[in-house]
Amino acid sequence: MEMKRNILLNPGPATTTDSVKLAQIVPDICPREEEFSSLMKGLREDLVKIVHGDLDTYTSVLFCGSGTINIDVCLNSLLPEGKKILIVNNGAYSSRAAQVCESYHLPFINLCFPYDQLPDLAKIEETLKANPDIFLLYTTHNETGTGILNPIREIGALAHKYQSIFVVDTTSTYAMLPIHIEEDNIDFCMSSAQKGLMAMAGLSFIVGKTKWIEKSKDFPTRSYYCNLFQQYDYFEKTGEMHFTPPVQTIYAAIQAVKEYWEEGEEGKWERHLRTFHAIHKGLEELGFQNIIRREWQAGLVVCVQYPKDQNWDFQKIHDYCYQKGFTIYPGKIDGMDTFRLCALGAIDEKDIFQFFKILREALERYKIPIPVSY
Ligand SMILES: *Cc1c(COP(=O)(O)O)cnc(C)c1O
Repeated sequence: MEMKRNILLNPGPATTTDSVKLAQIVPDICPREEEFSSLMKGLREDLVKIVHGDLDTYTSVLFCGSGTINIDVCLNSLLPEGKKILIVNNGAYSSRAAQVCESYHLPFINLCFPYDQLPDLAKIEETLKANPDIFLLYTTHNETGTGILNPIREIGALAHKYQSIFVVDTTSTYAMLPIHIEEDNIDFCMSSAQKGLMAMAGLSFIVGKTKWIEKSKDFPTRSYYCNLFQQYDYFEKTGEMHFTPPVQTIYAAIQAVKEYWEEGEEGKWERHLRTFHAIHKGLEELGFQNIIRREWQAGLVVCVQYPKDQNWDFQKIHDYCYQKGFTIYPGKIDGMDTFRLCALGAIDEKDIFQFFKILREALERYKIPIPVSY
């Protein structure tokens, strides 16, 4: 089968290999069969191992949904009665967590920092000290809207110093930037199959401490479908997802994990970094400016400011590139016009070199002088 290869520079879903795409084409199977639950058991263990978790301490729980389901599940399931959540917020994805708290009417503190700055650890500590009822500290690892990398190990240490559990949205770093769940002081992290794993959208998962999931049995149940303990408990008792799993998507994820081990944690991260450096080089050559200090960037997302040129029209540039097989993506920062180029997925620096040839053509086509101006 000949499949057109598109280069996705958007922040997920990412470009996948043909072998992952084709892994979805399997004989029909009822997911309640033993054969299927044993596949899921292996996958759940691999998902813990990818972040170097010890299977005696950590487990993973699968959900059918996009990555946001993990944020929803963690926040609504892991808060005891009378306790509070602290969100360390410097971007769009932590703001999404704040919206989840609002939707469930959960008591929370939204500790906001500028989107282009690292969170201030002293302020976090002050807040924890002043609010002994904080039970859950939440933040985002790589703020995918800007590409800034938050210091989770340090934030997690503060959480633990004040007897709080630490939940991190690692959706856009998991299976890319190496994570050591224990050393990084993480109690719960999360991702979605279409990002770092380079598999298909529709399967998401939470990796976390079994002890806390079991304790959360006695916490208030705020959702029927999106409850962490119930999904975990069903898996433990039956080996199955509570409700219908995304069957074919799981086959693709299993193939993707196999390819992950083949490429290796280090090799894969080096490839993403190489791709990221190629993005920076291409942008510099055309005069584009990015908005986050380079040394604070995770190495996966570059957020680029629109040039100040009367002929600049993002949609036109996008459409030109899209027709040639390259997808670029608008930004996610309130009040600032940006677009993003991401190093996720089954791509390498040569794809980026090719992309910049096309981007240059697009700029010339629309009479935007190079280097672009600000
Ligand atoms: C992609 C992403 C999510 C999930 O977004 P969905 O659109 O629900 O898949 C959550 N957090 C971060 C940091 C992400 O990059």
